[in-house]
Amino acid sequence: MSLLGAFFNSGSWLAIRDGLLAFAIVLWLALGYWTYKDARRRLQAGWRVALSALVGLVPPYVGPFVYMLFRPPEYLEDVRERELEIKAIEERLADADLRCPVCYAEVEATYLVCPVCTTKLKRACAGCGAPLEAIWQVCPYCETPIEPAAPGTPPALGTRRAARRRVR
Ligand SMILES: [Zn+2]
Ligand SMILES: [Zn+2]
Repeated sequence: MSLLGAFFNSGSWLAIRDGLLAFAIVLWLALGYWTYKDARRRLQAGWRVALSALVGLVPPYVGPFVYMLFRPPEYLEDVRERELEIKAIEERLADADLRCPVCYAEVEATYLVCPVCTTKLKRACAGCGAPLEAIWQVCPYCETPIEPAAPGTPPALGTRRAARRRVR
């Protein structure tokens, strides 16, 4: 026992103890810093990041695991990427809705006139009455050649594609 006692009183034990203590402190701070860095990638609000960093430090060593139980499952950049994708899809869908070029009312591709402001949108086929696109030379439904519009006929303005105004 006296040998053990001599060891604990020796300078080398003190050095080892100081080394272990320093390692424990570095590990504690590193875990706190890791928690802070992870929280910054997952949380938007500054106070939540600060709270997470605090939990990462207190209680020591256990805090980061507590944080991991409650942290959001996704990184902010992944959330942002997904929102951009949804926005792109919504815009592609919005492209599909047609509007009257005069009053901006929603119209169907098959309308000959705007039901709101009575603007002539399309000519009807002389053979089958189908709505015709301005650049067509022949009716695709009944093969009737399309005559140039008679003078004095109001021009068909066509429809325009418009992006839907954002709700959010
Ligand atoms: Zn209209
Ligand atoms: Zn036709």
